[in-house]
Amino acid sequence: MLKVGITGGIGSGKSTICRIFEMLGVPVFQADQEAKHLMDTDPELRGKIRSIFGDDIYLSNQALDRKKLAAIVFNQPHLLQQLNELVHPAVREYFSGWCQTQTAPYVLHEAAILFESGLAKLMDVNVLVTAPEDIRIARVVARDKVSGEEVKARIRNQMPEDEKRNLADYIIENDDRKLVIPQVLELDKKLRAHD
Ligand code: ADP
Repeated sequence: MLKVGITGGIGSGKSTICRIFEMLGVPVFQADQEAKHLMDTDPELRGKIRSIFGDDIYLSNQALDRKKLAAIVFNQPHLLQQLNELVHPAVREYFSGWCQTQTAPYVLHEAAILFESGLAKLMDVNVLVTAPEDIRIARVVARDKVSGEEVKARIRNQMPEDEKRNLADYIIENDDRKLVIPQVLELDKKLRAHD
């Protein structure tokens, strides 16, 4: 089974495009969502997170206190790195097991930091969803009810689009000019036929 990584900067429409693939019957592994789930439920991972951030990083209902965690790692990049070093391998292992339960010709692995995390190297093919920055800003302002400045700051924190373009095998232009569904259908056809 072909493993296909799919990514895109904030507001590129990555999630929307993945939902279209799902409608075509493609299994989509949502890494960020799975990571959150594992941090809440995986006993080994929970233990390791506790050992770094203390027992009270978990709330009384067993869920991870994300607000507290975000506040701690915000100004301490080394702790964020340590957290990622725990979470990424756990998600990768879970993904491998998940793949074995799938029967489709290919699966999508949706990840916000596909290239940055090194995950792209574990995929057979990598896809970038992209859109011009002004469109991405307008979409996120409308979606999240945040200011354009906040969105710009988040964009500045991500790998530049040109770099991602160079690393991707396929690109979906979600720029409100080129129709997106025909691009998805064409790529789906190619990925089904991929050897
Ligand atoms: P990402 O996951 O890349 O941050 P989303 O898929 O959530 O982006 O898309 C951002 C916002 O833009 C969402 O509200 C979505 O509905 C909207 N959007 C995405 N693609 C399009 C499109 N082609 N046309 C219109 N709206 C779009």
